[in-house]
Amino acid sequence: MVEDCAIPGCKTPSEDTHGFCTEHADEMFDQFLRHVEDVLGIASKVYFGRTHFPEQRLLQHFVDAQRDHLLVMHWTANWPEAKEFEEALISAFKEQSQYKRVENEALGSEGTYSGSWNALYISFALKYDSPWPPGGIDVKRLHRRNRIWPNPVIPNAPVLLWCGLTKEEAKSELDRFKEAADPARPRMGRAPKQRVRKARSSS
Ligand SMILES: [Zn+2]
Repeated sequence: MVEDCAIPGCKTPSEDTHGFCTEHADEMFDQFLRHVEDVLGIASKVYFGRTHFPEQRLLQHFVDAQRDHLLVMHWTANWPEAKEFEEALISAFKEQSQYKRVENEALGSEGTYSGSWNALYISFALKYDSPWPPGGIDVKRLHRRNRIWPNPVIPNAPVLLWCGLTKEEAKSELDRFKEAADPARPRMGRAPKQRVRKARSSS
């Protein structure tokens, strides 16, 4: 069955795997392109991806590849849609490979994936002379509740996450979170664990 376009008020049938008509899909994609172009102006290394848990993914990108910024551009519960947009972005910016700025390598395992929402994101490191972009969310700790939530509003205002931890701190936080999320762990009466020390700057 062909559904109507997901944009409220649009009665045109949706096309392909995403839930939008051709016109609205193009409009959304143009918006992603503008976000990416903004990022390319300040970034040295760029990676497109999709994830259920952007904060965790940010720390992974930071630990694995020194990319300490992550811009969430879009949320969707339609996985083929997220994949389609991601692949379209990768192919749109492949031509930029002469600058060695766009890369897409396999990420290490992030443990169990859960949740029905996918965020489409761009992960990046700043050029050495770029000013730190203002605002954004400083990710210091991973928590399933205390995090940005999937925002189904279309189009979605982009959300910038960044990581000011050291690589070692980020690695410990990923390990701590993975261990805490392991359902096989004993639930009660376990010995108190060494906590990761967190610098708490008042801001
Ligand atoms: Zn439409």
